Amino acid sequence: MIRITDILDRVQAYMTPDEQELIQKAYVFSASVHQGQVRLSGEPYLIHPMEVAGMLTDMRLDCSTVVTGLLHDTVEDTLATPQQIEAAFGKDVAFLVEGLTKISRITFSSREAQQAENFRKMILAMSSDIRILMVRLADRIHNMRTLQYHPPDKQQRIARETLDLYAPLANRLGIYWMKVELEDLAFKYLEHNAYNELNFRVSQKQEKREHYTEEVTRIIREELRKADLVAEVEGRAKHLWSIHKKMQAQHIEFDEVYDLIAFRIILASDTVRECYAALSMIHSLWKPVPGRFKDYIAIPKANNYKSLHTTVIGPYGERMEVQIRTRAMHEWAEEGIAAHWRYKERRSTDGGEDEQIKRLRELLEVQQEVDNPREYMSTLKMALFPDEVYVFTPNGDVRAFPKGATPIDFAYSVHSDVGHTCIGAKVNRNIVPLKYQLQNGDRVEITTQAGHHPSKDWLKYAVTSRARSKIKNWVNTEERNRSIVLGRELLEKEFRKHGLKFSLLGKPETLKKIYEENQVRTQDDLMAAVGYGKLSPKHVVQHFVPEEPKAEEPVPEKAKKKTPEVSTVGISLTGIEDVMVRYAKCCTPIPGDEIVGYISRGRGIVVHTSTCSNTRDMEADRLVDVEWNVKERHTYPVHIRVVCRDRKGVLADVSSAISAHDVNISNAQVDTNNPDMQAVCDFKIDVNDLNELNKVVTSIKKLDCVMSVERLRQL
Ligand code: MN
Repeated sequence: MIRITDILDRVQAYMTPDEQELIQKAYVFSASVHQGQVRLSGEPYLIHPMEVAGMLTDMRLDCSTVVTGLLHDTVEDTLATPQQIEAAFGKDVAFLVEGLTKISRITFSSREAQQAENFRKMILAMSSDIRILMVRLADRIHNMRTLQYHPPDKQQRIARETLDLYAPLANRLGIYWMKVELEDLAFKYLEHNAYNELNFRVSQKQEKREHYTEEVTRIIREELRKADLVAEVEGRAKHLWSIHKKMQAQHIEFDEVYDLIAFRIILASDTVRECYAALSMIHSLWKPVPGRFKDYIAIPKANNYKSLHTTVIGPYGERMEVQIRTRAMHEWAEEGIAAHWRYKERRSTDGGEDEQIKRLRELLEVQQEVDNPREYMSTLKMALFPDEVYVFTPNGDVRAFPKGATPIDFAYSVHSDVGHTCIGAKVNRNIVPLKYQLQNGDRVEITTQAGHHPSKDWLKYAVTSRARSKIKNWVNTEERNRSIVLGRELLEKEFRKHGLKFSLLGKPETLKKIYEENQVRTQDDLMAAVGYGKLSPKHVVQHFVPEEPKAEEPVPEKAKKKTPEVSTVGISLTGIEDVMVRYAKCCTPIPGDEIVGYISRGRGIVVHTSTCSNTRDMEADRLVDVEWNVKERHTYPVHIRVVCRDRKGVLADVSSAISAHDVNISNAQVDTNNPDMQAVCDFKIDVNDLNELNKVVTSIKKLDCVMSVERLRQL
């Protein structure tokens, strides 16, 4: 059982007295908040954080990391708060503990293999500081070492998570001993019988194997020396899980696994010639197995891995694999391990990421030889995936998004229909706006409603190209459809104006001419061009007007009679039915106002008041005459500003004057911060028409406190 004195003894070698004191303080804190808690083993809970901290000191990690090891479960499992931790141990530690608390809440639930990769990425992304991951791995090692106290189903779940998530992460960090221990412990629980048998078989040969490794290494070294080749020789036994995997993959029995040990010769010189010299030395020493020699120097692997691989019949008649490479090739091969950081779906041209891998790799390499761990750790603060976020689906799957992605991106990643009909989103069960930026670890749920449609505004919030192109597509199709309808209406009107039949438009020769002139190919294109305002209806109809206009007056008269002035929206455009109409927000016209219509690009006709200053800058041939055609009562919003002498109850007086006309006030604001002792009251009221507005204004003016009443043109 580890004691605090063991930890303190170890950190004495590389920490300042102040830091050692902080570690002692963390121990006292952890002991007091975990007081009374016991592990399933029956031991005091405190043993666990101490074991974790102990591993971190073995790795000579910095003070904050060791302190975090002691405190890593306090926020999640005790009454301690992040504020307490920051006050006692500083921002750095508080940040690390917070990161661990977040990661500990991730539960790996998916059975799909490809999800494991996403989970690993999520953990990496949430380990915005690599030290968080180191503590998490040490935590997992100790939990795996004491897994026997858990019920069998939990053992299975944790062992599976360890094998799928944490062992690969240890591997990526280059912490080989952790990878091996995590894999073998997980193996023990996941395939109990296979593990026991293999363990027994391997330990039977343990001593023999060690002797064998020493023997072979010694022979190779000697031969290299004789050949004047300077090189390092390594012999490494494979661990149980990797032997098991090999037996599975190649469908072989244990006795058939010969190369339990792999030897590697790393030449100090960087010349390729020496690699071949070492190879021929090996081949003259031991008989090569035919077909097992691979020259990855002459023909490098796709990832540019270079090395010579050969299998020979060793000194005891056993097969053994030997890899030969230069120091530079070896370093590249190691970089190749780091290249696992590069994910399939990421663009290979992403230079920033390569830089990041390189840095990480460098840092991990330094770790093994560094004299000053503090200096090393101080450079470790970096986000591993600064440009991605990982979120959960309601099923517990993980999806990756670029940073800044919103629920809209999430919705479109599920299905384009989900995107199109998305009306809201919940993150961690709380309703969020669609522009909410997703955070690592969020659980996202999309609310949809049949018949709902995307809005152009969504383009402001969507960042994934998938969502953006789907939205753009929808908006464009929609605008085009509206333009076709509007274009058709405008053309029909123009035809009637000239007493011509709309069916004339079908005349092939003329149509062809119009198409050529205006670079359109179909009738829909033509309608759309008119609807968008790219092409004036007059221009089109001109082609059909006979050279000599027959002055038959009754014809237009007749045409006029035929066209009922119907509009469901309170507007009629002489001769046009069912046009899409919007009221301009700049001047908020109400029935009774003089109005003018503007043919907008793809969004129907926008109605302005004739006096609206905005219409002055508009293209004249896109302005059309429109008139009010009020069939049923409908209210329109108007803004009015009332300036009055500031006295008590002024707002109530004005409000009741308005309400007396049965007019709704949808908004009221009073500004009394006026040096002239004036109150400026702005009202938004809903009126039926100008007549009603005038009545309201007259009533307000009658109040003796009122100095002026004005209709505001800006909503
Ligand atoms: Mn823990």
